[in-house]
Amino acid sequence: MTFSFNITHKDPQSRARIGRLTTPHGAIDTPNFIFCGTKASVKGLSPLQLREAGTDIILSNTYHLMLSPGPDLIAEMGGLHKFMNWDGPLFTDSGGFQIFSLGHGSVADEIKGRRTTNRPKTFLKISEEGAEFRSYLDGKKFFLTPESSIQIQRKLGADLIVQLDECTPFHADKEYTARSMEMSMRWGDRSLAEHERHDDGKQAMYGIVQGGVYPELRKISCEYTRDRDFFSTAIGGSLGSNKEQMYEVVAMCSEHIHQSRPVHLLGIGSFIDIFTNVRQGIDTFDCVSPTRTARHGWALVKGAPKERVNLRNAQFMKDPTPVDETCGCYTCRNHSKSYIHHLFRVGETLGMQLLSIHNVFTMNRLMREVRAAIAGGMLDAVQKEWVV
Ligand SMILES: [Zn+2]
Repeated sequence: MTFSFNITHKDPQSRARIGRLTTPHGAIDTPNFIFCGTKASVKGLSPLQLREAGTDIILSNTYHLMLSPGPDLIAEMGGLHKFMNWDGPLFTDSGGFQIFSLGHGSVADEIKGRRTTNRPKTFLKISEEGAEFRSYLDGKKFFLTPESSIQIQRKLGADLIVQLDECTPFHADKEYTARSMEMSMRWGDRSLAEHERHDDGKQAMYGIVQGGVYPELRKISCEYTRDRDFFSTAIGGSLGSNKEQMYEVVAMCSEHIHQSRPVHLLGIGSFIDIFTNVRQGIDTFDCVSPTRTARHGWALVKGAPKERVNLRNAQFMKDPTPVDETCGCYTCRNHSKSYIHHLFRVGETLGMQLLSIHNVFTMNRLMREVRAAIAGGMLDAVQKEWVV
């Protein structure tokens, strides 16, 4: 068995659990956080810096890599692990999410509840066969099917891969969401069949739970993934228009989902969201926010109001203390808020890099403390230290 998932401890108070997810490129302890290396790079950080900041696993986006440099080139260069020199567990998505959201981020915004207008201009057509879209780089037409998504992910060679699904917009009504979910289930079967046709034990696949904010649909979708031979489950689709609704949607799923497979929650990553969703049995999270916000001057800080502070603020101009006195990252061991404030003021990219190191370290520290808290029955107390 090259892939396995062993649950080693269950919290008696909630669905929280500690597990070990093993892949051909090593094992990770769960709950854990997957950092977004969108275009085969976690922006601004080298694999060495990621490792030093405690990173166990990263993901890359099939959509971006299929457009540039293309899956054939990456395969020729020895696969994504070798290409980017990351030797740990690696995850790729199906490419579907970006097809529906890229260009203007509209569907991504909708999924997080920010209602916007229609499909982006790069999106052309969706049919039973697959999704047609234009490259945002050169306008070239592409057609992504469940089979081609798996073939591309196979060429990229990540350990953990994902079935193709349709990303239903937030404003979709129940009828559209149901029809879309049913098509995603058929796409799931086609993705699985394509995966099984070539299965050599080097990749394992996530089935995706869709169904929007509708409990009956989420139940059907959970039962679908549970009854198929997926290795693991990802909760996707519209998670509602606010945090409370997102927690409700995850709760709807956690009851019906396959209980002994790893569960990933797509695109969620604030401190409070992690504590809340870990209690619903979520094992892994991903979100671009730790590095994206770092590039805008935001530092994640344990116990800070709203979970973060902005180092651009004038109050830090003469502050000789580190970003977080309790943090052991490279940045906090070596640099002051005053210096980082200066770097952002004058536009030096080192500022972004130093804050990215700190934010990645902080997310990894959070996940370590979450695991220890579950083991010690201290989840409530540890949450109070992180979220005020
Ligand atoms: Zn730090």
